[in-house]
Amino acid sequence: MEDAIFSLKGLHTTPHHSTPLALAAPASFPLSSGKPANQFLALLPTMAATSSSTDSAMHDQNSLKTRVCIIGSGPAAHTAAIYAAKAELKPILFEGTMAEDVSPGQLTISSNIAPGGQLSTASHVEDFPGFPEGIPGVELTDRLRTQSTRFGTQIFTEKVIYVDFSVNPFKVFTASRTVLADSVIVATGAVMKKPNVPGSGKGQSGFWNRGVSAYAVRDGAAPMFRDKPLAVIGGGDSAMEAADFLSKYGSKVYIIHRRDAFRASKIMQSRVLNNPKIEVMRNTVVRHAYGDAVGETRVLAGLELQNVVSEEISDLKVSGLFFAIGQEPATEFLEGQLELDADGYILTKPGTTLTSVRGVFAAGFVQDRKYRQAVTAACTGCMAAFDVVQYLQEMEAEQEKSRLFSIQPKEPRRLRKRWRGN
Ligand code: NDP
Repeated sequence: MEDAIFSLKGLHTTPHHSTPLALAAPASFPLSSGKPANQFLALLPTMAATSSSTDSAMHDQNSLKTRVCIIGSGPAAHTAAIYAAKAELKPILFEGTMAEDVSPGQLTISSNIAPGGQLSTASHVEDFPGFPEGIPGVELTDRLRTQSTRFGTQIFTEKVIYVDFSVNPFKVFTASRTVLADSVIVATGAVMKKPNVPGSGKGQSGFWNRGVSAYAVRDGAAPMFRDKPLAVIGGGDSAMEAADFLSKYGSKVYIIHRRDAFRASKIMQSRVLNNPKIEVMRNTVVRHAYGDAVGETRVLAGLELQNVVSEEISDLKVSGLFFAIGQEPATEFLEGQLELDADGYILTKPGTTLTSVRGVFAAGFVQDRKYRQAVTAACTGCMAAFDVVQYLQEMEAEQEKSRLFSIQPKEPRRLRKRWRGN
């Protein structure tokens, strides 16, 4: 591994003020969708909204250049940052924000990409190599972050809301900043899925963040849930883990599952079924969530349930409702600029992190529907850094070649001498 790091170091790096790679980035396989009709452009700073940046615009303090921009904050993103920083590429990393939404004017941008990613919402990570006693997810993420900054990664706690991969340098936009990047690694991971339960949404009509959450570990210990009855929707390992965790704080936890059989592993199931504070409600769906009638800041008070077999309707008084029905890749902000599969995962060339756009790479859960482990995310982050280095080297070689071809042949000295002699 040390050899690999040394080979990364060999890369010639471009100072920030130098001309970025001017070569266009041809797609290695065609995009299914064309150029995005971007709803977010209207929200960006004036400079960012222009399709081509100018040199003068680059003096704007909110505009930066980098050889590699990393989007994400989980093990894939930070491992990519560690290796890219060791290769002296001075990566810029956008880790997202805790804020759920940016809502300028009428538009609401929702990405839920928070610093630390999914890993930071895991109560205890048992299987990350090197931690025989396990480690809280938030601590592992913190360590990864510290390691990537130690090698010189510049981290911004900002959410990427739009990217433009149609020209190189690529453009990465947050609400307040634009980055021109010779290469990009997308490692935005996955976000929790939310079922369509009336009354669970944001705003006045729903109780999202007022009793409803998709992050049991992050939110479950909050005072509003202490010693109160709580409910979890789902039948996989996430639901079991959420219920088990919540049982430490709530007075009682109901698992509401739409089928009879669980998808969860046997060991997780037995932990839950043997927990006296947990009750399982099978073949049951939530028809809607309702609130209390007190004050301006109403909170969740209960659920109307339906048994899908008997069709019987019932009422369940709970102060918390937690979704644990799986995850989906966080690719919304890409707006069709990379080739995705039917479920929104970024397509990569097998065995690499190469995407459909040359110079753009993908690592971690955002491109992995099979392994989905913190350690495999870290592995693909490392691969992405290597792929970036190789790409930049190829670009430099191509630039040098085109520079040599563009030099006009000089008149041979011998002829000039003769001419002077006349
Ligand atoms: P899963 O896809 O395994 O399970 C999702 C569950 O949610 C299913 O039971 C599904 O029901 C239910 N569901 C899906 N959509 C809806 C909906 N709209 N309304 C109601 N219920 C719905 O996702 P998980 O997040 O649980 O697990 C994903 C992966 O992560 C798995 O490989 C798991 O092993 C792993 N994991 C491991 C953990 C650990 O080891 N500590 C912890 C958490 C996850 P149905 O069964 O009917 O389809």
